[in-house]
Amino acid sequence: MWRRFVLFGLVALLSGLFGMPAAAAPVVASQTCHASAAAGERLADLDRAPQRWICSDASYDIGPDSLFLRFRLDNREAPRAQSFVTHASPFAAITIRVIDARGAVSTARYTKADSRHLVAGPMMVLPLPRTSDAPREVAVRIDKAWNKTIASEARLDSTLEGSGWDMGVVVTMAAICGMLIVPLLLNFGFYIVLRREFVLWHIAMVGLMLVQSVFGTGFIHILASPDAATEISINSLCFGAVAASGLMFVVTFLEPDALSPALRRLFLTCAPLVMAGGVFTSLQIDALRPWSALGIYCAVSFAICLIFGALVTAWRRGSKLVIFLMVGWAPTLLVGVYRIGSYVLPGTRPTESVVIFQLALAAEVLANSLGIVIRFLELRRERDLANARATELEGVAGRDALTGLWNRHSIERRFNDLFRLGYRTMAVIDLDHFKRINDRHGHAVGDAVLKVVAATLAEDPEACAIRMGGEEFLMLLRGPGSAERAERCRRALSTRIAAAVPGLEHVVTASMGLVEHDLSGNLDVEFAVLYSHCDRLLYEAKRLGRNRTMRERLTGFTPDLQARTA
Ligand code: GH3
Ligand code: MG
Ligand code: MG
Repeated sequence: MWRRFVLFGLVALLSGLFGMPAAAAPVVASQTCHASAAAGERLADLDRAPQRWICSDASYDIGPDSLFLRFRLDNREAPRAQSFVTHASPFAAITIRVIDARGAVSTARYTKADSRHLVAGPMMVLPLPRTSDAPREVAVRIDKAWNKTIASEARLDSTLEGSGWDMGVVVTMAAICGMLIVPLLLNFGFYIVLRREFVLWHIAMVGLMLVQSVFGTGFIHILASPDAATEISINSLCFGAVAASGLMFVVTFLEPDALSPALRRLFLTCAPLVMAGGVFTSLQIDALRPWSALGIYCAVSFAICLIFGALVTAWRRGSKLVIFLMVGWAPTLLVGVYRIGSYVLPGTRPTESVVIFQLALAAEVLANSLGIVIRFLELRRERDLANARATELEGVAGRDALTGLWNRHSIERRFNDLFRLGYRTMAVIDLDHFKRINDRHGHAVGDAVLKVVAATLAEDPEACAIRMGGEEFLMLLRGPGSAERAERCRRALSTRIAAAVPGLEHVVTASMGLVEHDLSGNLDVEFAVLYSHCDRLLYEAKRLGRNRTMRERLTGFTPDLQARTA
């Protein structure tokens, strides 16, 4: 059911995007005819062979050296044409010849340095040479055009400075550029918390989109004035890199089993190839001029096919995350196809698709950012679960199976923290002649005795009880009278054991070695040092006849021996 909703949403979004009115500008005339010419050919040569002029369609051939455009301005009511505006794209020279109403001819030749870039859109402007009367015919010769768009987007404008996008479009484009910064920052935050590769790829993708948007929309000219060649280079590099990082994002973002291993490998292999397409176009190799733009268009088409394949595969394999990619990528993929189509097919205008493309990118970033948030929450939940499990396991591993007390390993690890928390009295308690109980009553009874000992020692709320091994226990105590409390515990053992394990032949007693560490300053006391003191005192207690405590107070680094029998 929800899948149907998503599809419905997608269709609604797309119809909104394509229904958006295209950027309007005060166009005086669209060129009516165009023709390609070899180096050295002039307008007169073309006019001698009128069949070479194509006036019926807009398929431009930039292969030959020059491309001629001819505008006829027959509408005398239209405002006077003042400038030539077209897509900002590299060229060697542009010659404009104007014939005015009285037949006077005026010509101007421009190089790259003469073109001025508009801020409102990816367009450049050249002034028409002055004529005393209104122009009636304008012929434009473009030498060594790098991109078809320089012809397909060409128009005459009624203002000298040229008009670009409407204010509404400019504001929308600027808003999209600004909007891209938000997910960028958000993703940085996510990466700091959850160091996942897919977040990095998304950062790369959004960051590059931002750069591409700033160049693709012409907004870069608010800050700097790169020439058309640099602009196209950076634009194609960014496009290639966006597509390549998009591929990497798809592979790293989806659940591990959403794509087959073969498809994953294909993505990893193709990402650099897609990038190479962008690099190819950006290099602007002179000998390959007419095919230069194809590099990036092929690379992006290829990436679109791959992503499309991945989305279908992941959807079929039941991926949950793919829905975010689908919602996010569908507009971009479709507009990408439209944009490529508009380059390949005649009659469409790529600069208009720039606007829709930016909107689609914005939709992509929003949907994918939402996807990242959800993935982030999911990963955090997984991590918390794993942590909880680890803690649980650690808890089990750190405990003695028979008595449930901490074992020796646990206390060695935690001793420093406990010591800092004030647990500075250590007592080692060993049952006397325990072997006899095992021998006379069996191992099970011995075990029962050990459990009673553990339960008794664990009763003091300000003490940690540990089973060190066999019938030897350790207590760490804090608070007032800790030595006395330990001693009370030791003494209580006999009665508690007798009550809980009836039928024992002898009263079970215990010996204890106890050390009170009195110092306030030195917190770096080693467990082994205190323990060996206790052990020595315990040995003393055993030697002196058992069922007693030997006690010592440590002050600073010098043990203050106060051994006494209990
Ligand atoms: P002492 O007074 O000198 O400490 O003599 P003791 O017999 O208590 O000490 P000894 O080290 O000679 O014997 C300890 C015995 O504890 C040997 C072993 O069989 C027994 N023991 C060790 N672990 C366990 C256990 O988990 N369960 C039982 N039932 N007995 C254990
Ligand atoms: Mg013993
Ligand atoms: Mg022992």
